[in-house]
Amino acid sequence: MPVSGWIEVSEKYCKGCDLCTHACPQNVMSLDLARLTPKGYHPVHLHAEGCTGCAVCAVVCPEAALTVFRGEKIMAGV
Ligand code: SF4
Ligand code: SF4
Repeated sequence: MPVSGWIEVSEKYCKGCDLCTHACPQNVMSLDLARLTPKGYHPVHLHAEGCTGCAVCAVVCPEAALTVFRGEKIMAGV
């Protein structure tokens, strides 16, 4: 089964600096321009499937705003 990952973004700490979106090797992250954090920044989100849980984004984040999870993809309906 393919390895699948996902992230959780702490909107309390994300400052929309875009470092993680440029570092993501899968190019699945972007700023969510439809939303604002309590501090007024656009928070990061996953805009596509393909996150592998590599954690590069969490390593480069200067605010420690990202938590990365990784596991085997479970097919729906099985
Ligand atoms: S864990 Fe890796 S693939 Fe997933 S969003 Fe972060 S940098 Fe991209
Ligand atoms: S690197 Fe961290 S603070 Fe910057 S946009 Fe990504 S999650 Fe937000």
